[in-house]
Amino acid sequence: MQETFITFENSSPMCLSQVPSKPVSRLAPTPSGFLHLGNAVNFLVTWAIVRSRNGSLHLRIDDMDGIRFRPDVLEDIFTSLDWLGLDWDTGPSGPDDFYQNFSLHKKKEYYRGRLQALDKMRRKTFVCRCSRASIKKVSPNGLYPGTCRNADLVFEPGLHAVRLRVDNDTGIQVNNHRIDLAEAFGDFVLWRKDDQPSYHLASLLEDEEGGINLIVRGQDLLFSTAAQIYLAQCFGFSSFPACRFLHHGLVLGDNGEKLSKSRGAYALKDLRQSGGSPAFAVKTAARVLGLKHNPILTAQDLKHALISLNRQNAFFKPA
Ligand SMILES: [Zn+2]
Repeated sequence: MQETFITFENSSPMCLSQVPSKPVSRLAPTPSGFLHLGNAVNFLVTWAIVRSRNGSLHLRIDDMDGIRFRPDVLEDIFTSLDWLGLDWDTGPSGPDDFYQNFSLHKKKEYYRGRLQALDKMRRKTFVCRCSRASIKKVSPNGLYPGTCRNADLVFEPGLHAVRLRVDNDTGIQVNNHRIDLAEAFGDFVLWRKDDQPSYHLASLLEDEEGGINLIVRGQDLLFSTAAQIYLAQCFGFSSFPACRFLHHGLVLGDNGEKLSKSRGAYALKDLRQSGGSPAFAVKTAARVLGLKHNPILTAQDLKHALISLNRQNAFFKPA
């Protein structure tokens, strides 16, 4: 793989002054496609920030998307993290531990209960029977056109979705972006038509429960962050709204497109099998973090470079 093939959507380095002094964060892969270079960069950046500040790191594997779940991909997550030299403090130690103790499927009824409580409390959710195709027909940009908002449908599991109403002029602040959520995201799904919690619902509940105070994710998830902040406000959560978010530029493939799990582009598995080292992913993570000095070839190098940067910043900070 040539380094020249990799570009970023936005090459400005991340603003590390936003990081809490004692970060609590998570690595959150989904076992629906083999991990690629973009995932590796995200994990390395998250891990290095947390480890450079004696924080705590949780491994959360979101397997709610049962249709696309693949056991060989689950295995690949653990092999890849080990290959990258990353560890974590809480969460599954391997596939067996995951199945026995950490599969999010075990919490499905808990998620359902939280959603029902939200519905009682806020009356902001509604039942929706629209298919993706029917939405696309009316709304070419894919934003939900509000079809079922006032239809007052009776929820039937496996047949209907549940959405959260996002009223006009719902402004959500994410770092220095003010996002008009109705315009950017629209009424979004909390419970899916296949009778599963949506990614937004499960992810938010897990983050709130875990006391997560730092989330590192790609810029493509900026609107998702805004949606989750809004959902947290609707729940009346205290922890999540205080969370710090770092959105990094995406690693793009040689065609300038976002790396996709389904296409297998830059899969870590292929890199490993062809005898490649993680150094390439580490160097890319260093660029995302704006670290330029010294050869940074391993996850440990990345951590030490951040520790020295933290020291310099502390030195220059006014007393
Ligand atoms: Zn609908």
